[in-house]
Amino acid sequence: MRILYQKRHILHRARMTIKGRLKQGESHILVNKIVRMNQSHQVHVIDLNFLGGANGIAAFLVESADGPILIEAGPHSTLPTLEKGLATHGYQISDIQHVFLTHIHLDHAGAAWCFAEHGAQIYLHPFGYAHMHDPSKLLASAKMIYKEAMDALWGTLKPIPADQLHTVDHGESVQIGSTTITAWHSPGHAKHHIAWQIGSDLFTGDVAGVSINHGPVIPPCPPPDINIEDWENSLQIIESLDEVDRYFLTHFGAITDCEAHIAKLRKSLEAYSQFFLPYHEQGATVAEVLPDFREFVKKYLTDNGMSESDAMAYEAANPSDMSATGLLRYWKKKLG
Ligand SMILES: [Zn+2]
Repeated sequence: MRILYQKRHILHRARMTIKGRLKQGESHILVNKIVRMNQSHQVHVIDLNFLGGANGIAAFLVESADGPILIEAGPHSTLPTLEKGLATHGYQISDIQHVFLTHIHLDHAGAAWCFAEHGAQIYLHPFGYAHMHDPSKLLASAKMIYKEAMDALWGTLKPIPADQLHTVDHGESVQIGSTTITAWHSPGHAKHHIAWQIGSDLFTGDVAGVSINHGPVIPPCPPPDINIEDWENSLQIIESLDEVDRYFLTHFGAITDCEAHIAKLRKSLEAYSQFFLPYHEQGATVAEVLPDFREFVKKYLTDNGMSESDAMAYEAANPSDMSATGLLRYWKKKLG
């Protein structure tokens, strides 16, 4: 299948404004026109049943007139579940020739290399390229964090050949037949984060937060890239995509009240980051903060209507120790 990159000069202006709010109108009028012509796709949410639980990590099968497209590959450890999910829609791994990654964290990109081994093209942020092409450093640092739990949690990573990795710039579109997929660079959670737009759908990865069973919207804040200011800029970018009326969260599923959803995320992002400020000022370690933060998260979730078992699903999708490490690091980088 022929793939055309649509790099139109007007989109360069959108890229130039990544640090600030995209100007309403002009900067993506052309994109709007392109994507509105392509509404003939269907999205299937595939639950990867991470660690045996429901609604923790999703991958998205997009059926278009031009064949299946996968958004997110999930962890390598859940590939058999993804394979089963694809089979219920009549596809095998080798049928998937296009995989779009929101970012290269292992819960989103860990199985991408398996699709590449079957010939798929992999689309990602330029900052993610090196680690997918040569995953040795990523693998080594994950093994250091997860130790003997690494295999069960994430499995492994293998290099993806350069000619199957395609980096996509901010505002740039990938054309697969008549389907247009547009990249919106959206740092804050990770420097290598992209929200992918197909028509009125936006696949938000982690930039629109975590919300399980339509529960509270909270920010996943793992190290090393958390940057609250960049995150806010990214929220403004995705809010400015006026034609978008549905978000697909990797953790977890479809959201249609987009405006209210982002307002809730802003609130939790503020609450979570501010929680750590006094601890940073006291020079506290992650281990010292963690018991208090776990209490804070539990209270935040239960105050927002979650049962204890729901709170556990949140913890699986968004571990508190990761967020404690990420947010303490954020303040240290910002304030020294
Ligand atoms: Zn994630």
